[in-house]
Amino acid sequence: MVDLKGQYDKIKDEVNSAIQDVIDQSSFIKGKYVKNFTENLAQYLGVKHVIPTGNGTDSLQLAMMALGYKRGDEVITTPFTFVATVEVMVLLGLRPVFVDVDPHSFNIDPEKIEAAITPKTRGIVPVHLFGQSCDMTAILAIAKKHSLDVIEDAAQAISATCEIDGKTHKCGTIGDIGSFSFFPSKNLGAYGDGGALCTNNPDLAKKMELYANHGSSKKYYYESVGINSRLDGLQAAILDIKLKYLDGYVKSRVGAADVYDKLLHDTTSITTPKRLANRNHVFHQYTLQIDSNGNGDRRNAIQKKLSEKGIPSAIYYPEPLHYQSVYSFGVYKKGDFPVAESMSNNVLSLPMHTELTVNMQEHIVENLNIVLHTT
Ligand SMILES: *Cc1c(COP(=O)(O)O)cnc(C)c1O
Repeated sequence: MVDLKGQYDKIKDEVNSAIQDVIDQSSFIKGKYVKNFTENLAQYLGVKHVIPTGNGTDSLQLAMMALGYKRGDEVITTPFTFVATVEVMVLLGLRPVFVDVDPHSFNIDPEKIEAAITPKTRGIVPVHLFGQSCDMTAILAIAKKHSLDVIEDAAQAISATCEIDGKTHKCGTIGDIGSFSFFPSKNLGAYGDGGALCTNNPDLAKKMELYANHGSSKKYYYESVGINSRLDGLQAAILDIKLKYLDGYVKSRVGAADVYDKLLHDTTSITTPKRLANRNHVFHQYTLQIDSNGNGDRRNAIQKKLSEKGIPSAIYYPEPLHYQSVYSFGVYKKGDFPVAESMSNNVLSLPMHTELTVNMQEHIVENLNIVLHTT
């Protein structure tokens, strides 16, 4: 599904030398590599404050801590996301409120948000799933009308953009806070765990930094209870190098998506990913929808046959979160979010990374066509 080794081979000398420098200077925690990367990322995103964190899950938790959410507060998101988005809400005693997704983008359907707002609602967490921005114009308007915060889960969408009022903005910099993950397979991937937060609000920036550091701004003195969430020096040094290549990596992904689109143009019984107007898709995943009869049997059989032919594929996500008892909260049941439920039966992501060649993609699509015809 990814080729991290092939990508590393092209920047091997640069990366190895940076790793050696970090070790020679014992700059493992904090230090200049973290500082440099943080500043360069802020510049890349065009945002005032970047706070490095240990991972994308911590980032989301820190955002909600900094916004001062209290036990019982409600936060709106979709059940068709990676668990982290919702998990941190539960850990903080908040009530996740689900809204169904839009069938074309896999992202939260803005038209269904207002019906989910109650007097307890504090924020909306749009997840820019698979690398394409949510409809931020509509989401910002709803948030403004109801005085809600917007926390963008941009874990899969670094460098994706969305046009608002004719101006292009990078995902993560549009709401009050943006959250990123540098998990190795993400579009900007570390060689281990890493994450970041960004905001233009100095007060929120200060709070997120404080909470990420045990609630302490002066060593051994504590202003609040916090957590320990750090990006380490080695990861920062590697990410700082890869950040320089990020726009090139995005170009490779979009190019690979173009090739898939072309090769799959005449294939029936599937839908290729839609690129919506006024935003650019950075293709963290290239996700097909495969015609099914209301269950995942055909899709699962196709995946199995592909695997037997040596073609990897993945299902993000095989069940919407509200199907699982931990995340149904005794409230949600099957049928509540029909689009998310149908997506879980239909979706199949093809290999997508920076090292794909047209030959590889032709081989993948050739086999996919054979399997589709016989399944
Ligand atoms: C990867 C991911 C996260 C969590 O990031 P980690 O760095 O793995 O903690 C959160 N939300 C979404 C949508 C993700 O894809």
